Amino acid sequence: MAKLREQAALWRAISRNAQVLKAGLRTNRFLLRYMRRFRVRKVGGNLIIHSHLPPINSPAYKRFIDEHLLKRTNGPSHAQVGLTNACPQRCTYCYNKGRAGRVMDTATIKRVIRELKELGVFWLGLTGGEPLLNKDLLEIVESVGADCAVKLFTTGSTLTPRLASDLKKAGLFSVSVSLDDWREEEHDRARGTRGAFREALRAIEVFKKTDGLHVGVSAVLSREMIVRDEVEELLSFLSGLEVHEAWLSEAKPSVQGFWKSDLVITEAERRKLVVLQDRYNRDGGITVNYLGHFEGREHFGCNAGHRMIYVDSFGEVSPCVFVPMTFGNVMDRPVGDIYADMRRRFPSEESCFINQNYPLLQKHGRGQIPLGKAESEELLAEVRFGPLAKFFEIFYS
Ligand code: SF4
Repeated sequence: MAKLREQAALWRAISRNAQVLKAGLRTNRFLLRYMRRFRVRKVGGNLIIHSHLPPINSPAYKRFIDEHLLKRTNGPSHAQVGLTNACPQRCTYCYNKGRAGRVMDTATIKRVIRELKELGVFWLGLTGGEPLLNKDLLEIVESVGADCAVKLFTTGSTLTPRLASDLKKAGLFSVSVSLDDWREEEHDRARGTRGAFREALRAIEVFKKTDGLHVGVSAVLSREMIVRDEVEELLSFLSGLEVHEAWLSEAKPSVQGFWKSDLVITEAERRKLVVLQDRYNRDGGITVNYLGHFEGREHFGCNAGHRMIYVDSFGEVSPCVFVPMTFGNVMDRPVGDIYADMRRRFPSEESCFINQNYPLLQKHGRGQIPLGKAESEELLAEVRFGPLAKFFEIFYS
């Protein structure tokens, strides 16, 4: 019965955006099949498939249809922005290692977000460092506006019930608290911080009590966990926490300590997680949202530097959070100019750019990450991009 109600809500939301039919039969069939792999959750009036997409009844989702599917803008759809480099944790796999400079002030962050939206961004991830440590966080969230879905990635450190409630009121639709393991000591070890596990559990409880907020956990899976078939153990722990969603990604070879083939997952292992996700979502418990499912060849593929863009807390622009290559600084050039430069070099493709090309970082970075523009271009001259993933094969055909 619940399933039927959810499907009815999905159909109602789709029919409110009937203009999507103009995007063509194949595109619509693909999107519908994709969405039917998930439960539709109603959280605070928002209909949510998963938190990598805006709620399907939101103005942000309407922009996806109008600007991307119909007007076929060449801009990014998704962006992540670093609000501070300060962080109480020391994660072994932190994608910000080596990034440095002068941190963006609030006016610059707000200008960057405005420019990103003008380019086409309808989904914005706020990250850090620890974004809760930015004292102007509420002002920044408020400045985004309802036509762009805002999600927060946090360790939960320093969260108060008041701040959680104010963030929701400011316009946040979803939050993910980092929690990598069901064993306290393992999580604290990966995060280089004693007490990180307890802090995450505390923050999850605070967010869960915040009316209307979609609450998830983001977990970075080690290859070992995937190989040993331990991911289900993590998922049953997360189900017990009664959060809406488990946002999963594998540890990426973005930093030197992970530039080893035995730490990078194989295509067969990615597929195993895709199957696991589909099974979980069919069974109807916690929503499982594995990045390698969304970004797999069967769906939307890798859009680093193409539909995805990362602006770190120092204003450096990268293709995605996991790709330690920068193409310019927003304090020197408009975001659109830097993005246009980057996009020319990054066609969409079916598999994860960093999982395939990390060995080139060593050679071209000469031990330094992130690579600057000149070194990045040198590296890219060696890269042969693969074919498009299913969605973009249909969309660009
Ligand atoms: S490189 Fe591409 S697939 Fe890999 S994490 Fe970044 S955007 Fe996703």
